[in-house]
Amino acid sequence: MAITTHISGFPRVGAKRELKFCVEKYWKNEASEQDVLNVAKEIRSINRNLQKAAGIDLVPVGDFSLYDHVLDTQVLVGAIPARFGFDAQNLSMKQYFELARGNKEQPALEMTKWFDTNYHYLVPEWSENTTFQAVLGNLKAQISEALADGVKVKPTIVGALSLLWLGKTKGGEFNRLNLLDKLLPVYVEILNEIKALGVEWVQIDEPILALDLPSEWLNQFQKVYGELAKTGVKILLGTYFGSVAEHIDLINNLPVAGVHIDCVRAPEQLSVFSGSLKDDKVLSVGFIDGRNVWRANLRQVFDILKPLADKLGSRLWVSSSCSLLHSPQDLGVEEKLSSEIKEWLAFGVQKLSEIGCLKTALNNGLDAVSSEFAASDKAVASRANSPLIHKAEVKQRIAALPANADKRQSDFATRIKAQQAVLNLPLLPTTTIGSFPQTTEIRQARAAFKKGTLSAADYEAAMKKEIAYVVQIQEELDIDVPVHGEAERNDMVEYFGEQMDGYTFTQFGWVQSYGSRCVKPPIIFGDVTRPKAMTVAWSSYAQTLTRRPMKGMLTGPVTMLQWSFVRNDIPRSQVCEQIALALNDEVLDLEKAGIKVIQIDEPAIREGLPLKRADWDAYLAWAGRCFRLSSMSVADSTQIHTHMCYSEFNDILPAIAAMDADVITIETSRSDMELLDAFVKFKYPNDIGPGVYDIHSPRVPSEEELTHLLEKALKVIPKERLWVNPDCGLKTRAWPETRAALELMVKVAKQLRQKYA
Ligand code: GLN
Ligand code: ZN
Repeated sequence: MAITTHISGFPRVGAKRELKFCVEKYWKNEASEQDVLNVAKEIRSINRNLQKAAGIDLVPVGDFSLYDHVLDTQVLVGAIPARFGFDAQNLSMKQYFELARGNKEQPALEMTKWFDTNYHYLVPEWSENTTFQAVLGNLKAQISEALADGVKVKPTIVGALSLLWLGKTKGGEFNRLNLLDKLLPVYVEILNEIKALGVEWVQIDEPILALDLPSEWLNQFQKVYGELAKTGVKILLGTYFGSVAEHIDLINNLPVAGVHIDCVRAPEQLSVFSGSLKDDKVLSVGFIDGRNVWRANLRQVFDILKPLADKLGSRLWVSSSCSLLHSPQDLGVEEKLSSEIKEWLAFGVQKLSEIGCLKTALNNGLDAVSSEFAASDKAVASRANSPLIHKAEVKQRIAALPANADKRQSDFATRIKAQQAVLNLPLLPTTTIGSFPQTTEIRQARAAFKKGTLSAADYEAAMKKEIAYVVQIQEELDIDVPVHGEAERNDMVEYFGEQMDGYTFTQFGWVQSYGSRCVKPPIIFGDVTRPKAMTVAWSSYAQTLTRRPMKGMLTGPVTMLQWSFVRNDIPRSQVCEQIALALNDEVLDLEKAGIKVIQIDEPAIREGLPLKRADWDAYLAWAGRCFRLSSMSVADSTQIHTHMCYSEFNDILPAIAAMDADVITIETSRSDMELLDAFVKFKYPNDIGPGVYDIHSPRVPSEEELTHLLEKALKVIPKERLWVNPDCGLKTRAWPETRAALELMVKVAKQLRQKYA
């Protein structure tokens, strides 16, 4: 009665991002199509070998992609938007990348976040005329390649219902579920073809089961899986990122051969499935965290799995919670991590070993894995007790917080009066979001300083020169609330993480964000503190250069959390609280240094929203509280700003208002101020600066556009509450367009100031 192991997917960019570099060269015509194919083949081969070595029984195929596996699924079912005019059956590599990146005639497919991960997929475009056809060349070739390698393969594809759900309707409203009748036969054909290659199992992912799914959609599962089961291929229904326990009856009634559940995100669903899953089905349990970097507590997992294995026998499969795509590839290549911290971690390669080790333990007994379990025990004990992680003063400080710690001393009406007395700002004050163009010189200076080839004194001089330049320009432009420009920051999270205790950084811990873009999230491993001031020197220096109120710039606690790998031994809300207090130290130091306006950026607050609506309020409550804690006990006269981007705030406006920032600047221009419609219903109580121009392109907005947007805003926002600013920071822009756009922005603000005075 052997236990089977498998995974849903493995990182595919290469341990040293080989695919990224090769593909980017190909885009620049510096590498050939064959070069790309060779690198891809090599990575797939390495990945298979890693899995073989670790004892993974069923190796996924279809998890590899040159850009995005959701795009690959669109190609697989021939769902290429007609606007490109491509022949799906004969899609060239060039055309494939044009779907992802656009070409001269056509914009790229839209991109959006894959559930609540930081991975972005390309959004299918659905119209009533969308047609489908099986385009199997690529998948079949990869299956054959893997079979030739002597592994047992388990093709893994995004299911028909999830694919339809994740797409967007284009060109007129219609129910995208109507496409199912056309799409389903194509999935049937795909399974038939796969089966003909000798494949026994296929994993079909329906992650939408973890969302709040309308019954209209749930009702289709029976039909879809009824049809697919007729092919005779054994189907493992893949779910992840949340509990699907509520669908146990639905799943039991599906003619699928097994179901995979995420026991990291939703461990509570295990008892439902172990108790009630029909005995014709395999239960695949994901206890190894595919989305985080922590080493598993093997003994604890084994103790859960053992009785399950006794009960289910070979019907128990062991896996990672979700695809390992969301985890870095290999801890082994890290050379600079402290050895103690390294012991607590597991990246993709290590996670494979953990899965393999659990299998050995279940099949052959604990004696067979005594050294692996001992090492895991040791790491668990060290994490529980290490002074690197646990700091009494942090816990005491949090315990001692008064109940109203997160409340400002006075209400907004009182505060804004006190602020106005100090700041003396005109009607429709102008400001920017923080960063100014990051020129090559700035980047070079930062890099040289990091490498040690530029002395601290020279680095400081270079940054000060940049700050002086940015302040001078803002004086010339007549911007009311200037900023120092953030030249010293490579990344808004890394910059602060590097200066806080409790954070660490990897050299190669890359995770694919989209296409060839990878991010290297910091790791929050322990209690967070701020040993010393992080931004005060730069902001104070900038303040000495102008009589205008210099705005201090910080990254907020929720964003610091959201864009990092977060420790899993305490709740995320508690980690966030610790970061908030560390930031509060900085806020108070800035205030003490005479900075009267402080912006605490929270661009990531919306992406932290749980997948199920029922969990939103709890999240928004602690996220809001942590934001407020980060500015606790500032004087009424100190003005707290926040900033958010990525639109779509309409549904959480009350929660945003409850953050009680004195001023919020928010991305809006790309949607022609759609956000403002929500203001008709919900009156945002404090000051607000809806972004008046998009910073994602070098295009300079026209005077008319700016006037139009601001006039539109003035219809729903009282003029005393309205600020004028761009959508977001300007660091990716060049100087000429930045200057031109800001000049116009100030000009229009002044015109309207006159008009409405
Ligand atoms: N202050 C940051 C900047 O201007 C904000 C960036 C962001 O919202 N993502 O760059
Ligand atoms: Zn922004």
